[in-house]
Amino acid sequence: MKVMAQMSMVMNLDKCIGCHTCSVTCKQAWTNRSGTEYIWFNNVETRPGQGYPRGYEDQEKWRGGWEIGRNGRLHLKAGGRLTKLLQLFSNPKLPGIEDYYEPWTYEYDTLLTAPEQKNIPTAPPKSLITGERVQIDWSGNWDDDLGGTYAHKDKDPMLKGIEDKVSLEFDKTFMFYLPRICEHCLNPSCAASCPSGAIYKREEDGIVLVDQDGCRGWRMCVTGCPYKKIYFNHRTGKAEKCTFCYPRIEAGEPTVCAETCVGRLRYLGLVLYDADAVTAAASTPDEKDLYRAQRDLILDPHDPEVIAGAKASGISHDWILAAQRSPTYALIKEYEVALPLHPEYRTMPMVWYIPPLSPVIDVVRDTGYDAEDAENLFAAIDALRIPVEYLANLFTAGDVPTVERVLYRMAAMRSYMRDINLGAEPKEG
Ligand code: SF4
Ligand code: SF4
Repeated sequence: MKVMAQMSMVMNLDKCIGCHTCSVTCKQAWTNRSGTEYIWFNNVETRPGQGYPRGYEDQEKWRGGWEIGRNGRLHLKAGGRLTKLLQLFSNPKLPGIEDYYEPWTYEYDTLLTAPEQKNIPTAPPKSLITGERVQIDWSGNWDDDLGGTYAHKDKDPMLKGIEDKVSLEFDKTFMFYLPRICEHCLNPSCAASCPSGAIYKREEDGIVLVDQDGCRGWRMCVTGCPYKKIYFNHRTGKAEKCTFCYPRIEAGEPTVCAETCVGRLRYLGLVLYDADAVTAAASTPDEKDLYRAQRDLILDPHDPEVIAGAKASGISHDWILAAQRSPTYALIKEYEVALPLHPEYRTMPMVWYIPPLSPVIDVVRDTGYDAEDAENLFAAIDALRIPVEYLANLFTAGDVPTVERVLYRMAAMRSYMRDINLGAEPKEG
């Protein structure tokens, strides 16, 4: 057993209000430079939805590469059959700019210079890259306000196979928000796919970084990351990604997204894991077992054998104490309420999620009870708006009982806390 330390995050999805403060503050801190306009280290997706870049969960989708044309715009590589053949052998699965979006601003001058006219003048959109006017029909969260099931019934691959659970009747539609950053995977495929060896996982805390001097702009990492959380800066010709705000972490401060989160839903913490077991865990044959295999990699930081292993790996006393007090360890291992996003990608992601305990439908309407009422807990969970199967497709490769167990636990916790807050005797069970 080789004990290593890993920074991790747990997000409680019931608390996300989709305000995008995290995305904006992250952008101000990290990607406000030329060439990074379209890059969102942190983004918040509406689910059901297409995600960012759109359709990233459709792992077979990406075909063709992209490059900077003479006009400075990113576009899909064009060319004859030979070029396409070369692309196929070089880097066949890159999202194009149309899957992200053409970064744009508005021609505000037109508001001041428009001649007298019948209608109020508008500021047309123009490309931030070329300065030319552009037609905008998509960007990250473009269809946010259209609402989950209604807008995405046919576009979200996670709804496939559960069509009978999805209704477009108004009181049965559902949506929730899914904030995403790089997963700082234990088995990072971005690093594995880099021909230059420029992507590395830090020994001390597992944060995955791109060495900007070593990067040669192959973009194999963009292809290789199943979460599409590594981006190509077309000005510098280098790959860039979420850094887990490592300069702040080193100074004992939280990441920018966690510090500024309005919902206070991001928990940061150190976990200890068995580095020798990662490859075997990632090779677990049944996808539905991957979540458990991944959770089992995380070690009990109170176990004397683990502490001895940590010391043998050079992990400091303070770091071991941090792992023992880690809220992410508690949520993942002790309470078992946090689940990884798409464990079936087999990269062993280290950003975990507490699935949302969505509003209940029939129970409230028919009985007046809700999901916080202990006596009606099971009936309430059965009547949740968000189909448990949908959450299972996101967080457990389709293992429904595991998600149900988490939801029961969260509902029971809410019920218990409500009794306490009301001054009543909490019901056990
Ligand atoms: Fe690499 Fe993607 Fe994993 Fe981040 S999410 S560590 S970019 S494979
Ligand atoms: Fe959600 Fe927090 Fe981001 Fe707002 S700041 S969108 S509440 S994760």
